[in-house]
Amino acid sequence: MNETSELSELFSDLPEPIQRAIRELGWSQPTPVQSRVIPMMRRGCDLIVQAHTGSGKTGAFGIPIAAELDPDLMACQALVMAPTRELANQVAGEITALGRHRGVRCVPIYGGVGYTQQIEAIDAGVQVVVGTPGRILDHLGAGRLRFDDVKIVVFDEADELLSLGFWPDMREIRTYLPDERQSCLFSATIPERVRSLSRVFLRDAEYVSPSEGQIAPQEIEHYFVVTTAQEKEANLVRIIEYEDPESAIIFCNTKADVRYVTSFLQRRGLDADQISGDLSQAAREEAMGKIKAGKLRFLVATDVAARGIDISRLSCVIGFTAPESPEVYVHRTGRTGRMGTAGLAISLISGLDIGNFRQVQQVNRIQIAERKLPTDAEILERLKERLSVKIEQEVRHLPESERAWNVDRFIPIVESLAAAPEGKRDLAAICASYLREHRPETTVIEPPPSSAPPRSAPPREPDRPRGKRRRSPGGQGGRRRGRR
Ligand code: AMP
Repeated sequence: MNETSELSELFSDLPEPIQRAIRELGWSQPTPVQSRVIPMMRRGCDLIVQAHTGSGKTGAFGIPIAAELDPDLMACQALVMAPTRELANQVAGEITALGRHRGVRCVPIYGGVGYTQQIEAIDAGVQVVVGTPGRILDHLGAGRLRFDDVKIVVFDEADELLSLGFWPDMREIRTYLPDERQSCLFSATIPERVRSLSRVFLRDAEYVSPSEGQIAPQEIEHYFVVTTAQEKEANLVRIIEYEDPESAIIFCNTKADVRYVTSFLQRRGLDADQISGDLSQAAREEAMGKIKAGKLRFLVATDVAARGIDISRLSCVIGFTAPESPEVYVHRTGRTGRMGTAGLAISLISGLDIGNFRQVQQVNRIQIAERKLPTDAEILERLKERLSVKIEQEVRHLPESERAWNVDRFIPIVESLAAAPEGKRDLAAICASYLREHRPETTVIEPPPSSAPPRSAPPREPDRPRGKRRRSPGGQGGRRRGRR
């Protein structure tokens, strides 16, 4: 497409420099999600948008950001939170491209890399920050970034942000944001925990699903994976590692399976216990009490054993064996996803069960999407991300004066361990046990209505890095407290 091509009506309504950038990108028509979101965002609505990668969602929020911000105000006016550095880079690249003829300055900010380049970019002037919450918080805490002029906040891949454990960081970022702002949340799925996030950050939000117009979001996210019968238990562990549910009930059809799966999970170092039909109602309630109190993570049960117990607080239900009837599926999954929990229902389906499982969907009139099993590399990447999010959170909360003693003096030990194969194994063992002991906070606990979490303490002494610190060009004025 060339620079004189006709643009759609929606694009032609945009400021001329944005139209020019859109032409240069070769876009002539908005995608469905852009058609719905761009006008609503430009009107200032708070939105919850169900959109997948590949739908043009970045343009859907990138165009309004680039079109609405004040190019003459060199202060951060829009914040996009993204779960990974790859996404942050991609989104920042697209917003930079869309805003180039308006001189929009967009900076990607993410953890796991040095600070110098980011500090230089912030100091050179930033109007849009796109980044991972932890590192953004570092710059805020150090006073390098200020969000007093932020008018638009976007959560990109909100479900992933929560899944990787960024909730505590997002909660803290909220205290740096002005009350008066527009907030929009984009997520491939809208389970309960995403809606909880929206209740904390958004006001009178409208739901948008490009395919069906406005939708009521699904209560529970359902999906299934196809697995061979032989690898089922190993694949169950893969899914658990990938999804990292806070707690889950795992349904089997027979007592023998319950015993087998429980011991398999325990051998993999997972905190699992079983309830069988032989137990009294009181003993079953006790097992349930343990899982609710966070003293047990996985409960393996038959449908019969689980009958009559309240699983409404559980975030995840896993069908290790396919349900024997469509009603059983509803019974298994129908009671999760309440009380502010995530509501995730996963079924492991082996070849023979596929026909039956289709019937489950037809009878219950639900469409359950198939997902591929996560690969080893995907699982490792996720473990790595969770580990670094959690460790960064811990280090951030250590006062600077205590870091030398609590952290830095161990660096020579780490260096010598990392230099030898056996030492590497010791480090790996430390990582594994740290991950087991320190699960990320993935559930959004809402503050009581209309009470802002008071930012009682003054901002902490600036953190890492130890190098230069300067004020951001937009960093004038005191911090205001966000109320939503
Ligand atoms: P996203 O869903 O934001 O990751 O975008 C998926 C791809 O679609 C990206 O490569 C975008 O550059 C491209 N894209 C976004 N909007 C349009 C559009 N209106 N026309 C053509 N391509 C687009």
